[in-house]
Amino acid sequence: MKDAQRSLFTRIMDREIPADIVYEDDQCIVINDIAPQAPVHMLVIPRKPLAKLANAGEQDKDILGHLLWVAGEVARQRGVADAFRVVINNGSGAGQTVFHLHLHVLAGTAFDEASLANAQN
Ligand code: AMP
Repeated sequence: MKDAQRSLFTRIMDREIPADIVYEDDQCIVINDIAPQAPVHMLVIPRKPLAKLANAGEQDKDILGHLLWVAGEVARQRGVADAFRVVINNGSGAGQTVFHLHLHVLAGTAFDEASLANAQN
């Protein structure tokens, strides 16, 4: 892949850019978000550089399932398995800013709408 096409998250996986890595396996990596929107805010990122969820093909079903399993696993590891939220922003119109698929795992905050609106502002 040409250097210019490699995403921020690929560079983090390749250890070119530092990040707080909390989990990794042969299919994905999990990092703490650099600008957390909740006390626990992790990003589950596949090693395969799918730009967004809508680009996933039928051949990607296994990795998509694995990413969800890992979201639950890291929530368990962080002690927040009772209450966490998983979010995927697909496309700039939905707030996606890094075009390498990732799942946000958010926890440790009140999940009522007012709290979430404050967290986003
Ligand atoms: P999204 O807006 O859904 O594309 O989410 C991108 C997320 O990546 C945001 O929550 C950013 O705070 C986060 N982010 C951007 N750069 C970094 C970085 N270097 N390390 C960790 N998280 C990052």
